[in-house]
Amino acid sequence: MEIRDNLNKIKEGLPENVTLVAVSKTNPVESILKAYNAGQRIFGENKAQELIGKQPLLPGDIRWHFIGHLQTNKVKYLVPFVDMIESVDSFKLLVEINKQAEKIDRTVNCLLQFHIGEEDTKFGLDMEEAIEILTSPEFDALLHTRICGVMGMATFTDNMVQVRNEFKQLNHIFHKLKGEYFPDKNEFKEISMGMSDDYQLAVEEGSTIVRIGSLIFGERNY
Ligand SMILES: *Cc1c(COP(=O)(O)O)cnc(C)c1O
Repeated sequence: MEIRDNLNKIKEGLPENVTLVAVSKTNPVESILKAYNAGQRIFGENKAQELIGKQPLLPGDIRWHFIGHLQTNKVKYLVPFVDMIESVDSFKLLVEINKQAEKIDRTVNCLLQFHIGEEDTKFGLDMEEAIEILTSPEFDALLHTRICGVMGMATFTDNMVQVRNEFKQLNHIFHKLKGEYFPDKNEFKEISMGMSDDYQLAVEEGSTIVRIGSLIFGERNY
């Protein structure tokens, strides 16, 4: 199927309040343009180098979400244009994003990434680490980052009961943080969870952002 048809099919099945991030990693600029020409404006990439290379070649009204592990030395290249960094997995990273954003007088949207799957290889905070960040005195001084919610990746498994439980867990984390640390922050409203194989489950469990790659662009060739 064509990229346009794939996109339309996914969008038809998504509730209106759920944002679709088209994950374009490993795909060439031409494929991204096809999705753009079909109306898609939000794209996700997981490697800083790759995003830095593609961004100048593509329309300026694309909203880029960064969704991969980000090294602090790459932050300064993304901050001038990125719409959201979904993968904040340490205080050090958040501080660096704030520092670079302050330099150019921007405020960068961020999600706190949580480790919900069972693989050790996946990045993300646990509740204790998140609370440490949110209660630290330095956190209040970060005026150039805007925490918009949470993100997580379920375990890579066919066990859909497990995947659903991990999504439930992230939903629970979101509501706990919302109640305790962001009660009057309207911008803290996003739960980014769900990929090609599990986004329908994720939506059932309260996802507000789904990140879908292979279902739009086809299987990736690494
Ligand atoms: C690659 C990736 C996705 C999309 O994966 P698909 O299975 O191709 O939909 C979503 N989120 C993150 C963080 C990714 O790295």
